[in-house]
This record gives sequence, structure tokens and C-alpha cells, in this order.
Amino acid sequence: MIIDELISENGHLMIDGVDSIDLVKEYGTPLYVFDISKVRDQIKKFRSAFEKESLNYQISYASKAFAVKAIYQVMKQENVHVDVVSGGELYTALAAGFPSNRISFHGNNKSLAELKMAVENHVGVIMLDNFHEIELLHQVLQENEETIQVMLRLTPGISAHTHKYDQTGQTDSKFGFDVNSGQAKKALQLVLEDPQMKLLGYHAHIGSQIFGTEGFKMLAQKMVEIAKNFQEESNYWPQVINLGGGFGISYNEDDDPITADDFISVIAQELKKDCDDVPEIWIEPGRSIVGPAGYTLYQIGSRKDIPGLESYVSVDGGMGDNIRPALYQAKYQAVVANKMNQADIETVHISGKYCESGDILIDQQKLPETEVGDVLAVLDTGAYGYSMAMNYNRNPRPAVVFVEKGQAKLVVKRETYEDLIRLDDNY
Ligand SMILES: *Cc1c(COP(=O)(O)O)cnc(C)c1O
Repeated sequence: MIIDELISENGHLMIDGVDSIDLVKEYGTPLYVFDISKVRDQIKKFRSAFEKESLNYQISYASKAFAVKAIYQVMKQENVHVDVVSGGELYTALAAGFPSNRISFHGNNKSLAELKMAVENHVGVIMLDNFHEIELLHQVLQENEETIQVMLRLTPGISAHTHKYDQTGQTDSKFGFDVNSGQAKKALQLVLEDPQMKLLGYHAHIGSQIFGTEGFKMLAQKMVEIAKNFQEESNYWPQVINLGGGFGISYNEDDDPITADDFISVIAQELKKDCDDVPEIWIEPGRSIVGPAGYTLYQIGSRKDIPGLESYVSVDGGMGDNIRPALYQAKYQAVVANKMNQADIETVHISGKYCESGDILIDQQKLPETEVGDVLAVLDTGAYGYSMAMNYNRNPRPAVVFVEKGQAKLVVKRETYEDLIRLDDNY
């Protein structure tokens, strides 16, 4: 088991100077906790990797990984951009006071209302995904007499080696303009002819939880090739090439992620080799920024022992606060936060409380001797946890606490039973 976490004298898991068991006493369980120092450190790593290569760059946090007001405020403090993919994320970012000119609006089916909202709030860039959207945006810009920056999302025909649901760059994808069939070239022409759209450059995102540098190397090569090819015909050279996100993190010992330095140096080499005029490089990390910073704290409850088989140890949350194991067999590791000094004695299944047999948070977890009321901390749950949380079985969604250098702050309240029926009406 990997434990690089700090442990207090009484054997408790410490999160950036705060005792996790104190957090449980104060805020209850299940509880999402974010170590905000880790979030800031990861952003710094991306920055220094770009600066080493002397590239012009922009980091845009893909906020779908975790999108609440407080995290947009951290991103504002860190002076990065953010990606949003819906009116709801845009609304949250704006409500948090995030500057609209640093927001990129993504999505493969943005509605007219969402595009209007984006234009009226002067978002920095709209990532154009398809012809229908070009038409809708054209209409909104004419009606509002506005201009806006856009980028073209391309499907470069590269597939990342990752789970099927995590791939987006291959030709058969729901996202973006296909390059091979000529769609992308046609979209480029349309945008260049539209005086109200200012084309900033090209975007591609090849997938998520990617480990090797090979995919990013191929992507950088391919994007330059496409840009040069299009330049011959249209005389347009991009100011920005956006290579998306997808940088993998380590959820367990099978995962071997690359560092920011690794893949940024690979990208830099490709671009410097092939371009006279190196465009600004944008990346869109989501998981790698917030994933490792997140912990979910649960209380251990019932236990089922089956002779000859591994036992089930149940916690007071599950697929409602972390759907990833059920959705795509995502693997996590956990520790017993109040028994960090005790040796493991058995391997068990960690099961949730939801009415689905698939509600297993961790299939095989080594644990010390546990009892009812112990606190289980599942590690690296910061990305796609709270943002995918739901109310199945009418379980209220957990609270979220940020900790930083010994201080804790509640940033999202725990849902109440009243919240659950707030939108219901009688019949
Ligand atoms: C989801 C997404 C990202 C972020 O992916 P991570 O795996 O969380 O880094 C970046 N860009 C786009 C377009 C995305 O859809």
C-alpha cells in the first residue's frame, strides 16, 4: 500500500496539517476533503514545465472534474483559465467571480440558450464542435451584434490507450470536426469567412487517464501537420494550439503516470522541430489537478463474512458519491484514517450502501482489524467524484471541505432531507 500521507502521533491520517478524524467529528461523513496545497502545487508543476521549455502557454483547468464555486476561486487565485461544458458550469464560475474572459466553453451539443449566455457574458473562447453550432453561434452573434473568439475542435484520428469511454480523439467519436473526411477544412473556411468569429486556433483532446508520452507526441505532430496543411490553402496560421487534457494520475500501484515535465518536453520538441512560428500551447488538465488532492472519508458500518470468501465491509456512502468504480471499473485505494499505524490483517471488499450489487467502491482492499465507527479514507477521489455525485436512493450528497496549511473551511454544505424534496410538488 502507498502511504505518503502524514500520520499524527495517535495514528490519524493528516491532510495538509489537519487531523482527518477532527474533520469527521466536525462535518460528519461521508465527507469530501481537498488538500488545496496539492492543487496549487500541481498547477505550479505545469507552469514550471512550460517555463523550462520557454513556450508561450496557458493552463485551462477542465472544471468538469470538480466544479463548485470555491474551486473556481482557487483557479482565479492561481491565475489560470477554466473550461466549462454547460450553462450550469458557466453559471457557477461566474457566480464565483471567475473572470469570463478566461473561460473556454466546450461541449458537443451546446444549446442556443447556452451560446447566448456565453456571448452575453463575453467568455474568452467558444470551442466550436460541429456545423450546427457554427450556425447557432452565427445567429447569436448577429442578433447581439457581438464578436467572439473561437477555436475549432478537431478529431485528429488518434486514439489514446485508455478505457473506451475515456477516448475522444479517434475518428469515430461524437466530438469535433473530423480531419480525414474534410469536415475540419470546411469548418475552417466557414469561420474565416465570418467577420464576427475570431479564430484563435485548433483544439484536440485525445482522452483521459493517459499514461505514456507517445499519445501526446503523436498529437503534437499531427496538429502541426494539420495546421501546415490548412495554411497552404487558407493562409491561416493558428495563434494557439490546444492539446486538451487527459494526463493520468496514480490511483493504485498499477498506474504509472508521466510527470508534467515529461510530456511537456515531448510536446515542445515536436513543435520546435516542425514550426517556424511556434503557436501558444494550451493544455486542459482536469483530473491531474484535483484528483490526487481529494479524499473521501466514510464511516465503517456493517460487515458480512462468508465462509471461504472475502468479507464485505460497508461504508455510509458509495456509488452516489463515487460512481467511477461502477461506471468503468475504476480502482482506488483506501486507508483506515484512525488506525494508520496498524498493520493490515485481511483483504476485503469495500461496499457502499446503495441498492445495487455493483456498488462496490474497492474490490480488493487490505485492511487492519476494523470495527464499526472506524473512518475509511478513500484516496485520490478529487476528480469526477463530487461532480458526478447523485441522489440515488434519496441519499443526500456529502459536504465538501477545503484544507490548506492547517486550516479547514466548509465550501459545500451537506445536503439535507429538505433539500431532497425542495423541487418536488404534490399531486
Ligand atoms: C474532460 C476534458 C478534459 C480534462 O480531462 P482530464 O482527464 O480530467 O484531464 C480536457 N479537455 C476536454 C475537452 C475534456 O473534455
